[in-house]
Amino acid sequence: MDKHEPETVRSTSSYVNNGNINDHEGDMIRWFEEVSAKAGAVQTEVLCRILKENFKVEYLKKWLLVGKEEINVAEMDACALESLFTSVVPLSSHEDFEPFIQRIADGDTASILTQQPITTLSLSSGTTEGRQKFVPFTRHSAQTTLETFTLSAAYRSRVYPIREGGKILEFIYSGNQFKTKGGLIAGTATTHYYASEEFRIKQERTKSFTCSPYEVISAGDYKQSTYCHLLLGLFFSHDVEFITSAFVYGIVQAFRSFEELWRDLCNDIRHGTLSSRIKVPKMREAVLEIITANQSLASRIEGICEEVEVMDWFGLIPKLWPNAKYVYSIMTGSMQPYLKRLRHYANGLPLVSGDYGSSESWIGVNVDPSSPPESVTFAVVPTFSYFEFIPLYRHKHSCGSSHDAAADDDFVEDKPIPLSKVKVGQEYEIALTTFTGLYRCRLGDVVEVGGFHNGTPKLNFICRRKLILTVNIDKNTEKDLQAVVEKASYILQSQTNNNAELVDFTSYADLTTQPGCYVIFWEIKGDAHDHVLQSCSTEMDAAFVDYGYVVSRKTSSIGPLELCILEKGTFKKILDCFVANGATLGQFKTPRCTNNPLLLNILHACTLKIFRSTAYA
Ligand code: AMP
Repeated sequence: MDKHEPETVRSTSSYVNNGNINDHEGDMIRWFEEVSAKAGAVQTEVLCRILKENFKVEYLKKWLLVGKEEINVAEMDACALESLFTSVVPLSSHEDFEPFIQRIADGDTASILTQQPITTLSLSSGTTEGRQKFVPFTRHSAQTTLETFTLSAAYRSRVYPIREGGKILEFIYSGNQFKTKGGLIAGTATTHYYASEEFRIKQERTKSFTCSPYEVISAGDYKQSTYCHLLLGLFFSHDVEFITSAFVYGIVQAFRSFEELWRDLCNDIRHGTLSSRIKVPKMREAVLEIITANQSLASRIEGICEEVEVMDWFGLIPKLWPNAKYVYSIMTGSMQPYLKRLRHYANGLPLVSGDYGSSESWIGVNVDPSSPPESVTFAVVPTFSYFEFIPLYRHKHSCGSSHDAAADDDFVEDKPIPLSKVKVGQEYEIALTTFTGLYRCRLGDVVEVGGFHNGTPKLNFICRRKLILTVNIDKNTEKDLQAVVEKASYILQSQTNNNAELVDFTSYADLTTQPGCYVIFWEIKGDAHDHVLQSCSTEMDAAFVDYGYVVSRKTSSIGPLELCILEKGTFKKILDCFVANGATLGQFKTPRCTNNPLLLNILHACTLKIFRSTAYA
């Protein structure tokens, strides 16, 4: 055992050997069974540890005063501390921490948020909110990433055993690490993780090794890295035990590229060469050191590609990777629209939904790997952070309610409760108190408690809390938009005999026209007649069930929905735009709604046709 293991694991002296899972995996499972059984008490202890380590920091000091007296945190017992903390420290959001984090980034070395100095900052993707945020990253962050991955690997192994020493085809990408004004290292959380010792330890512990060397993961050019990931994945095709990426968008994007690149890939495998499109010298060197000419493999791949190309690449994955047991990636939330294409490539190979976390903290692990992505839940790991749950209730349709311009969501909330008090079926927003200096910080996600794993809740990810489409009294979330788009894309497919397919979508509420209206952008693959696209537009308009929207459409205070059809490759341009601004592919989530002028410019410039809904006419 070593110093990286969770404390409870370290104190376990005997190993469990459970059929197909290795010693370490058995140990991880036993550890989680223990901590999840006493999740409430573990949470109280976790908060106590965070506060005893950090109660002297500037941010906490101002709240932990009674009159002018400092509260003696060091002497308090854990339960008293929990009730004191939640009564005196306010709920906050990332904006509240921004000035503090900025001072740290600028080189202020006082104990501002944590007692231990923060030397690294993570950049959250910003693709959900449109702007990247700095979040503290510490050794604890890398360790919990390791724990998340090894724990979920342990649960997966019980259901889908894999061969020890096998390979993983991982579409992973790290971005640049750079220095802030104050000399701190900054980059995305995954960038820090791939560069850390923990990434290497994870491979050893799970006895599965990524096909690509670090030079490919860190090349900094996602197109070149994708080519090399594919090449090495094919080169080791018989050893690949599963295929993965952080978010499933990464896998779908890689296979869409494969559709264009396969001839070049086969050529490289046949001759042991590397396409001249790979320009990063270190990556070239590292890949060429691995691959050797393999004629028979190249012919096998060519044969498969010729066979599946005519079936629009149906079943590509199991054909090319005959020993792959499953595909593993985050498939929930804004990733759900990519599932259809993934299922097409995977032809029945199990799809295992990846875990739940954010740059702020890991939250939960998928302990039921066989559950379909649509119904997956994440068991909260109570040692990662102190989690509070803010109950959310959806507004009843208050007829004629005046629109509050400041209200940007559709919920009424109640007082936060601890993990031990959550109820099945209730929706919540999570607030986090972390080992990295965030105190009662709202995460902005809506989750629903789907059940319990021992004493810890299993969460369904519902959506980002912020409303994404609103013109006046209407309120629609990402999930509402997703449902509407799914309905219409079904028409697209059925009326074109599966010839046309939705590649990706986004939207915005156009307030520049009178009345304002929803604009939805689609990129489609294949051909669709105008009359089909016209019905898709009308279908979407009619499918928004939000009362505010329906009433506004009926009274024409919101105009007809517009469906804009984009030219091929528009979403790739959007991805490139994000990457050029510092996001990495591994972290990228297509914004489902945008006010970003740069993106709107791309979208408008790439619009080929506009279909105005005739619903409510
Ligand atoms: P970032 O901080 O850029 O890593 O983004 C974190 C956000 O990604 C979370 O707050 C969620 O909105 C989303 N996310 C992370 N994991 C999942 C998951 N398993 N399912 C759905 N959304 C997720």
